[in-house]
Amino acid sequence: MNIISDPKNLKNELSKTDKSIIGFVPTMGALHKGHLSLIQKSRRETDITVVSIFVNPTQFNDPEDLNNYPDTIKKDTDQLKILGTDYLFTPKYEDLYTDNYRYKILETQFSNELCGKSRDGHFSGVLTVVMKLLNIVKPDKAYFGEKDYQQYLLIRDMAKAFYMDIEIISSPTVRDRDGLAMSSRNKLLSKNDRSKAARFPKMLNSGKTDGQIIESLTEEGFKVDYIETHNNRIFGAVFLGNVRLIDNVKV
Ligand code: AMP
Repeated sequence: MNIISDPKNLKNELSKTDKSIIGFVPTMGALHKGHLSLIQKSRRETDITVVSIFVNPTQFNDPEDLNNYPDTIKKDTDQLKILGTDYLFTPKYEDLYTDNYRYKILETQFSNELCGKSRDGHFSGVLTVVMKLLNIVKPDKAYFGEKDYQQYLLIRDMAKAFYMDIEIISSPTVRDRDGLAMSSRNKLLSKNDRSKAARFPKMLNSGKTDGQIIESLTEEGFKVDYIETHNNRIFGAVFLGNVRLIDNVKV
């Protein structure tokens, strides 16, 4: 596996791979089986798989959340090697944001709903970093998890809006045995909260109304950010302690 942190070097290297189909999986590291499923999909469907690990500060609206974000780069690197990843891209903020975030992507509708309501500027940070990464890697296919379904839809529609010649592919949510969607933030839950957390996807799947789900989760000690049904999918975000969990399920 080739590990590259300079965007120019990566661009240069990938430009030599002419006719190969390039697959790209952007991540913020602390890899788990959800990430690995995207990488395996890319390995099956493309010739060269590029994975990025970059904890993108512009998408964090809460500085404490950014500071606490888990960093397991050594373990991540080992896992990526075992999976047969071709390139690991680990850019630094200064190299990715040479403009110091003077330019940003602004979506004006759906990014203000669901997670966008309580996370000011979050999706501009996400869309901007994804645009930068896609322009550096120039993949044929890019892979995103359905766990972050709103993010997937916004990226898919951005690629279409800007005539980007990239297939944006979604992949199903990978869950722990008790049903909790895998997430790097799960590591931050206390033991007690971790056992309680599985109630969240169970409630989303319960067939109850959004209002009833909010009521039940609140009674059980969750702080509910939102539970909302859009296009036959229930989306939710809750806090356990100061850890924010998101999930969505098809109705
Ligand atoms: P992150 O490192 O959290 O930015 O996630 C990187 C990519 O992995 C995003 O496309 C996520 O949607 C995806 N992802 C995160 N957790 C899961 C999961 N449990 N199942 C499937 N994909 C996931």
